[in-house]
Amino acid sequence: MKHILLIATGGTLACRESGRGLAPSLTGEQLLEFLPEIKKICRVFVDNPFSVDSTDITTAQRKQIATLIWQNYDRYDGFVVAHGTDSLAYTSALLYHMLRNLNKPVIITGAQKPIGVEDSDAERNLLDSFRVACAGWTGVAAVLHGQIIRGNHVFKAHTESMTPFMSINAPLIGTVSENGTVNFNIPPLRGGEPEFVDIVKSSFIVLPIIPDLDPSIFDFLSRYDKVILRAYGAGGVPVRLEKVVQKLISNGTKVYITTQCLEGEVDLHKYEVGRRAEEVGAISLGHRSIEDSIAAIQCGEL
Ligand code: ASP
Repeated sequence: MKHILLIATGGTLACRESGRGLAPSLTGEQLLEFLPEIKKICRVFVDNPFSVDSTDITTAQRKQIATLIWQNYDRYDGFVVAHGTDSLAYTSALLYHMLRNLNKPVIITGAQKPIGVEDSDAERNLLDSFRVACAGWTGVAAVLHGQIIRGNHVFKAHTESMTPFMSINAPLIGTVSENGTVNFNIPPLRGGEPEFVDIVKSSFIVLPIIPDLDPSIFDFLSRYDKVILRAYGAGGVPVRLEKVVQKLISNGTKVYITTQCLEGEVDLHKYEVGRRAEEVGAISLGHRSIEDSIAAIQCGEL
């Protein structure tokens, strides 16, 4: 039987009503009490590094999760991270970039309703995560409502729906059926030496282009090493901002262009409004999501 480490970090699935709204209160051991079937799937060990709403998770805590996995890498056959859904995509992207060439699974999951309440998705999502962790996947993936999503393509698209997650700009890795059968659409990646990539110090910010955006905001942005502009469509930056973008870049800030669209690529050659941005030195982020882009910056890839 495979040995899997459950890393419990809080989130709705571990919540109980506090009198002031839902707040995480259950440990990983307590979560497992709701999953008697787990004994048939794998042997679970537990670590509880912290227990917070994922709104409050910092980069240092995300790094703590990655470090915990890395330090225990040889000890277990795989890892399941129980996490709040709201910022899960940021954690899964950062784990994806920090833990490279894995030959074991790191599965992250959460739920829209606390474990043990009527119609909760927590039990299924946790059990499915352990099933995927035991089914031979390698690398970082999210398992939520029957979908297996590559770690750097996760997106939470709905605040209340019981199927709130999407795989952005990449097909699903696979699915888990209602009866717990795991089906992979693509084979797991293998090869290379597992590697821990540490976070590099870099200041960055994301700014959406909005109608009539005040150009003077760009003076303030020069304090950052990197700025991600969420441009329109395929990467359109208004002509009225061209000079301030150029000045920002010539003062040493790197400017990256992503899109406000949910899916699809930035193509700075498609329109003049994109080409102009490229000509002043802005760099396309292609099909990367915001979460993936931020994690790539944090790991020094951008
Ligand atoms: N606010 C919660 C969190 O992200 C939401 C959830 O887990 O579904 O921790």
